[in-house]
Amino acid sequence: MGKKMMGAILPGNSTVELKEFDVPVPGHGEVLIKTKSSTICGSDIRAIYREHTGKGPEGYQGVIAGHEPCGQIVETGPGLRRFKKGDRVVIYHISGCGVCNDCRRGYMISCTSEKYRRAYGWQRDGGMAEYILAEEKDLVLLPDNLTYTDGAQVACGFGTVYEGLEKIGISGNDNVLVTGLGPVGMAALMLSKALGASMTIGIDVIPERLEICKNLGLADHVLTAGPDNVEEVRALTGGMGCEKTVDCSANDQARQVAIRAARKWGKIVFIGEGGKVEFNPSPDIIHDQKTIFGSWVTNIWRMEELVERISRWGIHPEDLVTHRFPLEKASDAYSLMASGKCGKVAVVFDEEIK
Ligand SMILES: [Zn+2]
Ligand SMILES: [Zn+2]
Repeated sequence: MGKKMMGAILPGNSTVELKEFDVPVPGHGEVLIKTKSSTICGSDIRAIYREHTGKGPEGYQGVIAGHEPCGQIVETGPGLRRFKKGDRVVIYHISGCGVCNDCRRGYMISCTSEKYRRAYGWQRDGGMAEYILAEEKDLVLLPDNLTYTDGAQVACGFGTVYEGLEKIGISGNDNVLVTGLGPVGMAALMLSKALGASMTIGIDVIPERLEICKNLGLADHVLTAGPDNVEEVRALTGGMGCEKTVDCSANDQARQVAIRAARKWGKIVFIGEGGKVEFNPSPDIIHDQKTIFGSWVTNIWRMEELVERISRWGIHPEDLVTHRFPLEKASDAYSLMASGKCGKVAVVFDEEIK
């Protein structure tokens, strides 16, 4: 094609650089996708935008950023088995080798091949450009009643949350507490409601986030993070605590609340990355028969299942997007996301510019 496009890279000093790139040409088993929506993830901010924290092959390789892309196939390479030109697709954000044990389970996130594991927006070009080259095996078909911005949210955030919630199992039996109400915590509240949770409680330090959760009806109760949170949650739950708790904050104090505000026999899942936590195993989990799960991203079959269910439930992940920017304003998009004074932030193209 020989065409040119603009793409955003992240030098690692809280700036965004826009550069010109060649529009890629799809090879065997690959597709060229016209990017429609590309949302910014907390880990983009933590591990790439502010500074490059990953090292070696795990690190950011100076490629086009953005690991939550969604768009439409506009060109196909030879050898495709399922997808075709015109399909609307979500990209599972890590391309794995396909043949290691983790890849065979669908968890390309933890692919063990140093040579072939490449995440979009980290080791291979991602979604902050007009076009993105992807492998067919990394695609999830986007149902017609979901928007591209719904789909972008599933590529990382909603997929990650759904996996964590499936590990602890959410149903109408459960009161659910979510600590940390960034976009991942908001997604945890939204999906908990969709899965039937009888009551949702959210905790955060940033007033703007509490406000968004209240206004969108995601949480039945919001609490400002503080030393009385465990008592406050108990008071809201007849003195019992929540059957299920989800930490999306990665904060020591908040994780302690997630553990201690869980009811006897409760299940806790840690999704927020980084940091540490201090707790006392005997009173905090052993004597109350509690279980703590860790959960990292999701597998591709569950992502496919999630888009089907989101479509059936009639919910829209894009409702969490509070700000949309065109690619030329990517710099404003990242700095707003870094401030935390927002819901989800999206860089959008074509019909997704609203
Ligand atoms: Zn992410
Ligand atoms: Zn692999």
